[in-house]
Amino acid sequence: MLGLMQNHQLLISTLIEFAERHHGEGEIVSRRVEGDIHRYTYKDVATRSRQVANALDGLKLQFSDRVATLAWNGYRHLELYFGVSGSGRVLHTLNPRLHPDQVAWIANHAEDTVLCFDMSFLPIVKAVHGRCTTIKHYVALCDADKLPADTGIPGLLSYESWIGEQSSKYQWPSFDENSASSMCYTSGTTGNPKAALYSHRSTMLHAFAVALPDSLSLSARECILPVVPMFHVNAWGLPYSAAMTGAKLVFPGPAMDGKSIFDLIESEKVSCAAGVPTIWQMMLSYMQSNKLRFSTLKRTVIGGSACPPAMITAFNDDYGIEVIHAWGMTEMSPLGTSCILKNKHLSMNSEEKMKVRLKQGRGIFGVDMKIVDGKGDELPWDGKAYGDLLVKGPWIISEYFKGEGGSPLVDGWFPTGDVATIDADGYMQITDRSKDVIKSGGEWISSIDVENIAMAHPAVAMAACIGMKHPKWDERPIIAVVKKPGAEVSREELIAFYEGKTAKWQIPDDVVFVDAIPLGATGKMQKSKLRDLLKDYKLPGA
Ligand code: ADP
Repeated sequence: MLGLMQNHQLLISTLIEFAERHHGEGEIVSRRVEGDIHRYTYKDVATRSRQVANALDGLKLQFSDRVATLAWNGYRHLELYFGVSGSGRVLHTLNPRLHPDQVAWIANHAEDTVLCFDMSFLPIVKAVHGRCTTIKHYVALCDADKLPADTGIPGLLSYESWIGEQSSKYQWPSFDENSASSMCYTSGTTGNPKAALYSHRSTMLHAFAVALPDSLSLSARECILPVVPMFHVNAWGLPYSAAMTGAKLVFPGPAMDGKSIFDLIESEKVSCAAGVPTIWQMMLSYMQSNKLRFSTLKRTVIGGSACPPAMITAFNDDYGIEVIHAWGMTEMSPLGTSCILKNKHLSMNSEEKMKVRLKQGRGIFGVDMKIVDGKGDELPWDGKAYGDLLVKGPWIISEYFKGEGGSPLVDGWFPTGDVATIDADGYMQITDRSKDVIKSGGEWISSIDVENIAMAHPAVAMAACIGMKHPKWDERPIIAVVKKPGAEVSREELIAFYEGKTAKWQIPDDVVFVDAIPLGATGKMQKSKLRDLLKDYKLPGA
């Protein structure tokens, strides 16, 4: 017997329709590429998204055609999120931090038909347009009078005139909720990038999950600053969840430095901000040097790579801000876990609480997790046993776009490539990425643990731990360190700093001081590049 409920499809267009009707006055504030601050409402987003949909119809785009963006977090990008997916096309957010060769490769692989870009990315578009064989239309996200005369890009349209000519009336189409809505390529840290192809259904279910109180806790009373880029896994789904709840949205545009982010938080009364640790590192340094305090911020969501304990302490103890450590992947839309304390933790002392906060958190409803040993047998949830982390759920990929790399699933589970423990309360902790874990004398050393200790040293700005070949132990850890400006610490002092903080055999064998740690297109440390940089390095005693 089937239930007798209405069978409405879960479609992204319903989010913006809802936001317009119920939160029409809700604000969207953007720092623009033009440098100024732009503000308007959900009603305006809805109107202009319909104009985008009409403009795409005008270009005769078919259902599922890919529309690419090269854009910062901003209101025009948001309109494309709804206008492109809502009208049945697939939004493909290209990552502008990639090399132009990679951008061209990805655009061709995705078979993008239109490319909408912020003017700051004109040099990339100039470099790739001759090679992007499927792109027929280029749209610059600006007013007509901001278009330079000689871009060399044939038929370049200005977004404002393109959508400005369109009717704001549009009936969003209804179709199967399993249809593709957007796509995002993984950073390609190993091999060619592969794309996760999200569906309307997966995006909507993920948006519900992101908004939950024990996830990112969004509501119409919140003001959200997604520093995490809209070109990286849909800014962790925040644009969708914000429309679902009517939260005010604040977009930082291209200005991601500590001062600009801090100023925006203060001027727009941001209550919750989300981003990778490197962003918060910059902002905290700026605040510390200028002795600044927050007046409205309540929480920061930190994910994408492990949040160092020193950062949690700084936010929590120095500024009274709750840190929500979160974990996910491009392949998971991305949210998998968030670290919110349970009642039982609240009475713990701060050291015990910190141990919990450092974990990547509990699985949110919809994400099932398990850890397995080398034979694939499931390991206990005791907080000690560590193994490969596998996940399944309705917003986790079943395969990559075009079947690249064959089926990634193992008995229906997606292997994350992370190594983790899970404790009896269900809190998962990443000990490493499987390719970064250091295998020393048959034991595993977590590079994250080694980095966290170094990062707690007052002279250290950033630290990356990698394994070096060793004749006896197979591999031994070394730590590459960037010193804070004006700060001093010697190799011996830093090694001594580890004493008593970790097992002796987990203390790095050496410290290498570097000017910078290579960061990838999404702000993560690129250990493969660091290994290349240190290819002539000789381990002491090896
Ligand atoms: P890519 O895999 O291409 O680098 P993703 O952004 O999808 O791009 O990265 C997902 C990976 O990032 C995870 O598998 C994990 O290794 C790492 N990661 C994400 N969040 C965290 C976190 N909070 N702590 C530790 N690692 C994290």
